[in-house]
Order: sequence, then C-alpha cells, then structure tokens
Amino acid sequence: SRLVGGSADADERAVEAVLRPRTLSEFVGQERLREQLSLVLDAARARGHTADHILLSGPPGLGKTTLAMIVAAEMGAPLRITSGPAIQHAGDLAAILSSIGEGDVLFFDEIHRTARAAEELLYTAMEDFRVDVVVGKGPGATAIPLELPRFTLVGATTRTGLLPGPLRDRFGFTGHLDLYEPAELQRVLARSAGLLEVELREDGAHEIAGRSRGTPRIANRLLRRVRDFAQVRADSVVTADIARSALEIFEVDTMGLDRLDRSVLSALCKNFGGGPVGLGTLAVAVAEERETVEEVAEPFLVRAGLLARTPRGRVATPAAWTHLGLAVPQRAPF
Ligand code: ATP
Repeated sequence: SRLVGGSADADERAVEAVLRPRTLSEFVGQERLREQLSLVLDAARARGHTADHILLSGPPGLGKTTLAMIVAAEMGAPLRITSGPAIQHAGDLAAILSSIGEGDVLFFDEIHRTARAAEELLYTAMEDFRVDVVVGKGPGATAIPLELPRFTLVGATTRTGLLPGPLRDRFGFTGHLDLYEPAELQRVLARSAGLLEVELREDGAHEIAGRSRGTPRIANRLLRRVRDFAQVRADSVVTADIARSALEIFEVDTMGLDRLDRSVLSALCKNFGGGPVGLGTLAVAVAEERETVEEVAEPFLVRAGLLARTPRGRVATPAAWTHLGLAVPQRAPF
C-alpha cells in the first residue's frame, strides 16, 4: 500500500473502475500504440473476423487492463478475464477456454506467470483454436480434442522478455506501453478530476503530474489524496500550492520519490560517498530487506537516472546528489 507504488489491490481497482477510459479516443497518450491498435481492430472489423491475439507489455498502472477492456468494447465483444497466477493446472485453463464464446475477448493478465503445465494447452488454443483435454490417468488416459470458437486473447506482461518464445510468437500484434510524459498525465488528471468532481486548476494538475512517476495509476491516486487535503484544509479547489502542501504531508517529493526512495539515496550519498556499495550493505544502512531495496526502491531510482547498478555495486549519479540538495563531489564514482 505504497502511495507511489505501481500496482493496485482489489479495493483500489474498484475505485479505478470509475476512471477507466471506455474508448480508444478517451485513452490519453500512447499515440503510436493507439494508432496501431485502432488499425488492427478496424481491419478485423472490416473483414468481419475476430482480431489477432494482442500482447501488451509495460510496467504496472500504465493502462494494459484498460486497453483490453477497450479492445472488447470496440469489437462489441464480451470480455473474459483471467491471469497467469490463476492458472496453475492445464485443467484451470481448459475450464475457461471451454466456456468461451465466438468472438469473445479473453484478457490474460500477468501471462508470463502461467504454470508450465498449462502452456502447451495455451499454444494450441491460440494457434489452432483447439485443445486436447486429457481424460483419465496413466496408460488408459485419452486426449479428447475440443474445438474452440475463434476468440481474441489479450495478454499483459510487465516485460515481453519474460515470455517463452513460442508463446510470444503466437501473438499477431505486440504493443509496448511507455511511461507517460508529465503533459499527458496532466490530461489524465484533468479527465479524472472531471469524473470525480474535483476542481483542479491547471497549475495543480502540473504539480501532481510531475510527482506521478510517469504512471496514470499513481497520478489518479495522488489526486485522491490531494482532494482529501483540499476538502479538509482548503476550499476544495486544487491549486499548485494545495497540491504541494498535500504531497509534502504524504512525503511524495517533486520527482515522486517517497521516504524509502530518499532514504536509499541519502544513505548511498551520505554514508558511502555515493558508492559503489553492495546491495546488502545498503539495505542494512536503511534498515530494510535486500528485496525491498532491490525490488521496491531501485527500479524507479534507476529509471529516473538517480542510481546506477554497476558490477562493483550501487552508485549515486550526479542527479541524485543534486536532488538531495547536496553538492556533487569532485571525485564522485561515476
Ligand atoms: P496492472 O498491470 O497493475 O494491471 P494496468 O497496466 O493494467 O496495471 P490499468 O488498470 O489499465 O493499468 O490502469 C490503472 C488506472 O490508470 C486506471 O484507473 C485507468 O483508468 C488509468 N489509466 C491508465 N492509462 C490511462 C490512460 N491512457 N488514460 C486515462 N487513464 C488511464
């Protein structure tokens, strides 16, 4: 439940449902991907076919689920939802596939986490619209072929590299979602503010967008917290000053770093002269688990160009010193 974390729990997803764009034209940013998707869908519609299978990759919170819902809506098809972790046995997948209808869109979140045992079944389902359901065990087991109606699978993954080659090859189209520019996030925020009936001034949106780590989910989350502050401490209008004061209370700084991120950077600069320092030593210095530093704090610090992972250890970049308000040392290790 980190304010600047990329993923969402079930409660947050329920709140998010209100803010989801319903059409490609409502979907902000990702111009290239939107154009490509719109071509794929228009062409399929013109041919009167189901669309090819679509793979969407990118960090959490950038709109993969939203796009899958839009694909179904634009094709006028029902959406079925499952995820890699929910498929532990071939039978789990067979059950879902056998209830699928002609033209349905099956959204497969975290598809890279599908159990090995179900992968083969997925391959034939995607390629030949057929699955072999094995009945019985041992030498008496028989495979009963089951024809499936044509459907469109929309897979989501954080990185296409995590997918086995044969699975990747079965998608007709792969789209990558990039982090959003602050100006795009400002448009996401303006749209959300309208839906949530929050009076958001342009400078307020600008202030929140800059702290949102390129991620619509985080932008919307910060907007909800700023709205709380504006309601309780101000006249409900979100200006830059209000946004700044609110996000100071929630310890989200101008780059979107929270307390954990800053303590990692600060230890790196102040305790270890900017590194290089080993992950384990850095974790002890901030009193966190290695995994927390490596998986929760570092990915964004690396992406933001504040920390580098080198073979000799973690190193702070000049931008890190500057961000912490410290003088960049003459003989810094970068
Ligand atoms: P996860 O990988 O965690 O499932 P995701 O990539 O599927 O994340 P979504 O659930 O689609 O992300 O989006 C998160 C929230 O951000 C939703 O409330 C959605 O409305 C909003 N959002 C995402 N992308 C956009 C966009 N381009 N325009 C407007 N809102 C967006």
